[in-house]
Amino acid sequence: MRVVIVGAGISGLSIAFELLEAGLRRDDLLLLEAAPRAGGNIATTREDGLTIEHGPNGFLDNAPSTLHLVERIGLHGALLKSNRSAARRFIYRSGRLRCIETRPLKFLKEGVLPLSSAFRVALEPMMKKGGNPTESVHDFAVRRIGRGAADVLVDAMVSGVFAGNSRELELASAFPKMAAMESQYGSLVKAMIARKRMGAGGGGPAGPGGVLTSFVDGMQTLPDALTALLKDRLITGCPVQSVQHRPGGWRVFAGNRPEIETEAVVLACPAYAASQILSDLDPSMHSELGDIAYPPVTVVATAFDDLREKPDGFGFLVPRCQGLQILGSLWTSSIWQHRTPEGTTLLRTMVGGAHDPRSAELDDPAILQLVLRDLNAAMGITSDPTGVWIFRYDKAIAQYRPGHRARMQRLRQRLGRYPGLFLAGSAYDGISVNHCVEEAPRVAAQVMASLVL
Ligand SMILES: Cc1cc2nc3c(=O)[nH]c(=O)nc-3n(C[C@H](O)[C@H](O)[C@H](O)COP(=O)(O)OP(=O)(O)OC[C@H]3O[C@@H](n4cnc5c(N)ncnc54)[C@H](O)[C@@H]3O)c2cc1C
Repeated sequence: MRVVIVGAGISGLSIAFELLEAGLRRDDLLLLEAAPRAGGNIATTREDGLTIEHGPNGFLDNAPSTLHLVERIGLHGALLKSNRSAARRFIYRSGRLRCIETRPLKFLKEGVLPLSSAFRVALEPMMKKGGNPTESVHDFAVRRIGRGAADVLVDAMVSGVFAGNSRELELASAFPKMAAMESQYGSLVKAMIARKRMGAGGGGPAGPGGVLTSFVDGMQTLPDALTALLKDRLITGCPVQSVQHRPGGWRVFAGNRPEIETEAVVLACPAYAASQILSDLDPSMHSELGDIAYPPVTVVATAFDDLREKPDGFGFLVPRCQGLQILGSLWTSSIWQHRTPEGTTLLRTMVGGAHDPRSAELDDPAILQLVLRDLNAAMGITSDPTGVWIFRYDKAIAQYRPGHRARMQRLRQRLGRYPGLFLAGSAYDGISVNHCVEEAPRVAAQVMASLVL
């Protein structure tokens, strides 16, 4: 074998595809996946006319990577863009949902922030640049837009993206574009104006910019298509336990299979799994990787028939200081066409994350009760759901805590000792599906360059 990839989430699958595109012979590639199916976090349940995502809801079309991959594997016709109404995003504050308007007067009128906090946001262009490379997202936000907006808007955004705590995420790693906007333009507002002039778009207070995109049959369409291309090169139900360095390559110990000799190994599994796999080889990488936290998240999907008021928009997020326990709720039936039968409302509500890991671990009846209580408080839903699906992610999303960049440098230095060993996936340089897919050709090129001709 020439290359073994560990983990068939979207990272491992797209690296495998890129390696074949780069000219690696099929017989020289093996992708080993611990679970019975490929796709990792990406999974879709289709039942009784409903299409229900377990994890990722979609990807944004303002980055080219996933769209380009989709084009190359012939899936373009299966794409589905979110409805226009999905541009309407809400936040729960002071007992009700408030639409995050982009026009200043409407923003003020909606009461997304108390007046004093909203005026403080307007002073953003006058604030000085920071200089701390490990500054947390919260500290950055307090400095630039004030504590009120940091506690409400930024806290909610961080819950929505990382299921994280803004005080425990490093700005430069978690939101590098925002850090770059400050260092390049001196202000986020100035940067947004400049980017708009250049036609770059790319996000503002109402959302991250770009159109949320998925597939008619749900996100699982993407890993399914890659799996079909890889055929027998993918082995599921085959957890890798460890790797051993040997002259000229590696030995991979997986499942109850005989050891596999290979020139290169790509660990495209989560950091905690890579940590275990490397525990005998390198105690330092073992502990660096093991220190990357993954709080649990539980996704509770609920279907309701004939709600009097149908939700219209993307959904809402809940800042921690507002007294609800859920992180937020995505209004699937309003975001996407063809996901529910006529008259049915489908919501996906997130519980847990870095702020409140215990809630994610409640048993099914308790977590459903919590979700229904909070949906009632925020949306006034009092009827019983006609369907409930609970998807548990015991270790959901990697948290790029302060010091993450420095950790990555140490890990890269350490990797330099082991030619033919690579780390890839959402634990390191970006957690979105787009990031994972974007990284794949780079990793594939490095792997190809490492192989002895
Ligand atoms: C609830 C939730 C919602 C999300 N929503 C979005 C969204 O809307 N948009 C977006 O862009 N991103 C979203 N994300 C993030 C996105 O899902 C992930 O970043 C991305 O799917 C990660 O892909 P990956 O391949 O790096 O890792 P994973 O999907 O975690 O795949 C890693 C694979 O490695 C396997 N593995 C683990 N250990 C071993 C081992 N020892 N041997 C072999 N295989 C092993 C696992 O079984 C898994 O299949 C969401 C994540 C979650 C949890």
